[in-house]
Amino acid sequence: MRDITQALTQVQDSLRQAAEKHQRNLADIQLLAVSKTRPATDLEAAYNAGQTAFGENYLQEALDKIEALQHLPLEWHFIGPIQSNKTKPIAEHFDWVHSVDRLKIARRLSEQRPPDLTPLNICLQINISAEASKSGITLAELPALAQEISALPNITLRGLMAIPAPADNFDDQRIPHRALKKALDDLNSQGLNLDTLSMGMSGDMEAAIAEGSTMVRIGTAIFGKRTPKA
Ligand SMILES: *Cc1c(COP(=O)(O)O)cnc(C)c1O
Repeated sequence: MRDITQALTQVQDSLRQAAEKHQRNLADIQLLAVSKTRPATDLEAAYNAGQTAFGENYLQEALDKIEALQHLPLEWHFIGPIQSNKTKPIAEHFDWVHSVDRLKIARRLSEQRPPDLTPLNICLQINISAEASKSGITLAELPALAQEISALPNITLRGLMAIPAPADNFDDQRIPHRALKKALDDLNSQGLNLDTLSMGMSGDMEAAIAEGSTMVRIGTAIFGKRTPKA
């Protein structure tokens, strides 16, 4: 069995080194453990090694784990594609949603967020490499959508998320992350108050940190290679 504790320690070390190298404050970069396809016991192992924030992509699988691990004080992030008929359980069971890409979804999450919970934290997903196969909005659509969504009650627009197209060298990896950072800065200069850049995965974590990531989403480097869903 893979040693999740050891892998997590290695990821924490790389994160610390990247922060130092690029003059970032370590406290400004949160590690999100992406646990899709992993059994609840793997998440519990990561929790026992100090990890509390988990990202999930598939709703039913996530709900099963949230229930199985309800005895632990975990923070749950939904990072997968959202169907509009599935917003209610997301609004009820998650702390963050990174993959909002249309007003209708944001409206439903706002309406369905239970009043006894703190507002749901939202990131808008940007299709930063403009890939036809990827979800997310374009940078051109962003300013208007961000203004509309930031006005909704029961949700808090925190920032932007992207899954850039893979690039194999460090300088090329930095380019889309830099564009996302600029988009965030532009929104803030237009009066929004956003503090989150959800960017950086196992293959491009350092490039994302170099460009200002505040939340890296790491799966493979913690839990090992995923077997594709059947
Ligand atoms: C799977 C996934 C990740 C983690 O990717 P790794 O390469 O395994 O680190 C991060 N973000 C999203 C949106 C994902 O779907």
